[in-house]
Amino acid sequence: GKPLYVVDDVSRTYRSRGRLIHAVQGVSLDVREGEVLGVVGESGSGKSTLAKMLVHLERPDSGRLTMSEPGHRAGGSGGGRAGRLRRRVQMVFQHPAGSLNPRLRVGTSVREPLAASDTGAKAAAERVREVLREVGLPEDSAARLPDEFSGGQKQRIAIARAIVGDPRVVVLDEPTSALDVSVQAQVLDLLSKIQRAENLTYVFISHDLAVVRAISDRVAVMYAGRLVELADAASLFEAPAHWYTRELLAAMPSPDPRDRPERPERRPRAGQAESGQAESGQGEEAAAPAGCAFASRCPAAEDNCRTVRPEPVELEPGRVVACHHPAGMEGR
Ligand code: ATP
Ligand code: MG
Repeated sequence: GKPLYVVDDVSRTYRSRGRLIHAVQGVSLDVREGEVLGVVGESGSGKSTLAKMLVHLERPDSGRLTMSEPGHRAGGSGGGRAGRLRRRVQMVFQHPAGSLNPRLRVGTSVREPLAASDTGAKAAAERVREVLREVGLPEDSAARLPDEFSGGQKQRIAIARAIVGDPRVVVLDEPTSALDVSVQAQVLDLLSKIQRAENLTYVFISHDLAVVRAISDRVAVMYAGRLVELADAASLFEAPAHWYTRELLAAMPSPDPRDRPERPERRPRAGQAESGQAESGQGEEAAAPAGCAFASRCPAAEDNCRTVRPEPVELEPGRVVACHHPAGMEGR
């Protein structure tokens, strides 16, 4: 697919107890029309911060997010450019309960994204019934309160709410990880079905690498706030080029050990560089560290890795890697 949503050099820094946390640093990528773009990386690597910038819940400190909308009518009604953009990109969060107001009837919550549009009351009610049906909830759900539903059903409600306004892109931030294992597969099946039915593009964040592999067309790997690798799902899982990707995949349970990339010989030092936080130094004035954030954990690190930051480059068509000494690239 063509680039639909272009993320250009976005960064987001938080201040916490006088320290700067570089949650996302200079991330560039394009989300392509109709794809599932998986996003992986350890806890604190900036996945949710990136997700919130994609849906404009957080503003980048710098960089740009551009939705290309062929056929998009100029002007339009209410909400301004930012309002329209927001409706074009919707998000489903990990904890469905947190995104639903317990005092509002389900129909009211699901209808909410339509409020800023020019959809009439009757058409809105019809669309709400339609999406509730689509996510597999009973006819009378709209009149009930969120508490009457199970966790899996609540997540179906959150999905209905995300798709009701016909978005182009849906950002799914660990959409099944809070659900019972028995329910996870059902919700994933539903998400795939909806993607086809509504012609959606997904950004799918998950710690479950097996699921990411199964549903993603391409996968982005984040480490310490940066994009370290981006490739087709098949090539990423078969031949990871960044040493962090290799470490991440080596921890992945596989039914066939031959599918697993070799474990790096040197084990990472626990707790090191788990986020941009560890890199940010002593205070507000701390500059970004020199070199690669993964260098201290990397089995292939050489001197230049500690002094020169590797920028993401397209090593081969469709594969972007930010590493001075990528794995398995000899002779390609
Ligand atoms: P997880 O896999 O645990 O969900 P993540 O990859 O989604 O992690 P983020 O939530 O984006 O990571 O966090 C990135 C970094 O930014 C972390 O160090 C986190 O503590 C910090 N951070 C995130 N949100 C805030 C905030 N509102 N205020 C201060 N620091 C924040
Ligand atoms: Mg997160």
